[in-house]
Amino acid sequence: MNNSLRAIRGMRDVLPQETPIWQWLEGKFRHLTYRYGYQEMRLPLLEPVALFERAVGQATDIVSKEMYNFMDKSGEHITLRPEGTSGCMRAVLENNLCYNKTQRLWYQGPMFRYERPQKGRLRQFTQFGVEAFGMAGPDVDAEIIFMLRDLFQELGLTSHLRLEINSLGIPEERRAHREALVAWFSAHRDQLDEDSLNRLETNPLRILDSKNPDMQVMLNQAPRLLDFLQEESRQHFSAVCELLEKASIPYIVNPRLVRGLDYYTRTVFEWITDELGSQGTVCGGGRYDGLAQLFSPRPLAACGFAIGIERLLLLIQTVSQQDNPLWHFHPDVVIANERQDDGLKAQLLAERLRQQIDGLSVLVDCSGAKLKRQHQTALQSQCQAIVTLNSGGEIRLWDLASSQQMTLNEKDLIGWLQQHLH
Ligand code: ATP
Ligand code: MG
Repeated sequence: MNNSLRAIRGMRDVLPQETPIWQWLEGKFRHLTYRYGYQEMRLPLLEPVALFERAVGQATDIVSKEMYNFMDKSGEHITLRPEGTSGCMRAVLENNLCYNKTQRLWYQGPMFRYERPQKGRLRQFTQFGVEAFGMAGPDVDAEIIFMLRDLFQELGLTSHLRLEINSLGIPEERRAHREALVAWFSAHRDQLDEDSLNRLETNPLRILDSKNPDMQVMLNQAPRLLDFLQEESRQHFSAVCELLEKASIPYIVNPRLVRGLDYYTRTVFEWITDELGSQGTVCGGGRYDGLAQLFSPRPLAACGFAIGIERLLLLIQTVSQQDNPLWHFHPDVVIANERQDDGLKAQLLAERLRQQIDGLSVLVDCSGAKLKRQHQTALQSQCQAIVTLNSGGEIRLWDLASSQQMTLNEKDLIGWLQQHLH
């Protein structure tokens, strides 16, 4: 195929053999959010560039190098959304959803970041995210972690993920820590790599995130934000930790966990796996009480998380011991016909079967191939039964579970299908 017509690098097709597992997972998200009382939000893919510059922050990787920005025909600076929280906050405020009430919301959809594509890292990827607005207490931080524990348990991933948490405090505490951190890094300048030297000016907190093995000893000794927390933030953090313990959720306090976005305050967390190489963060989240004030003077407490669905699917497929039939599509019945001009008859029979048996999946072979070939295709589809219209006008049923074949009339066929397949 002509190279210029291929899909854009880092943007992949989800093929029909993959969609069943996506749908299965999406069903899990819907069920989870329903059980916890979260309602779905559907947000635009395009937003003003300024939204992310303000909300995510100029000095973050996302805004400084990963956004798909362009100008539309009227000269407006717009972008393909790189994440969901900023748009969700915009929508909540714009539509007054939190006027005198709280909101529990979720969303799912594609996000876009111009990054180097590799395993678990795409330029178009999909997030499932949850945001809770108008609730400032540590119980809500715990609630969204409860949801995640529940989800990962349901997906059989508990033993493959660890929860790391930290508190980033409030801006005042962060400022004090930042000063101490800059002083520390300046004193250890000779140990900083180029990336970190750049960050020293723009976003020193993110240096703590560095994976450079030569810097680890120094980074572990650097001033910890946790030590700069004042009473209220300390209490908030210990209340979250206590709730997790009471709910028997194991966690690790990682004082170097900072997250890549500016908007976080207090609680931040990640769910990390060692099974996917360096792209091991499946879920990231936390509290972002300061974000609303970038939009309007009225404060609005908020917290949430986002899961990268492609990474989650990679993990599920890597660690699952057994194949799940729900991850594949198989029709219940395939109708084959010996005579090519019986096509219409086959379609009408299929239609009657679908109408009589609710939920039955019936696929009619319209390929025009020889009967033997039609049977081969049907067998490959792993259907449960093949119904053949013979040239003599008979209906033959081939039950693939028992390998039995029988001739019967339509009424008995329906009876048989009802009894055996539903
Ligand atoms: P990373 O450290 O891997 O770059 P991040 O901190 O940039 O992640 P977030 O902005 O917190 O990621 O997004 C939440 C989740 O979305 C991540 O934990 C990950 O599962 C997923 N994600 C982020 N960027 C990508 C990407 N380029 N491709 C696939 N999934 C991604
Ligand atoms: Mg990133």
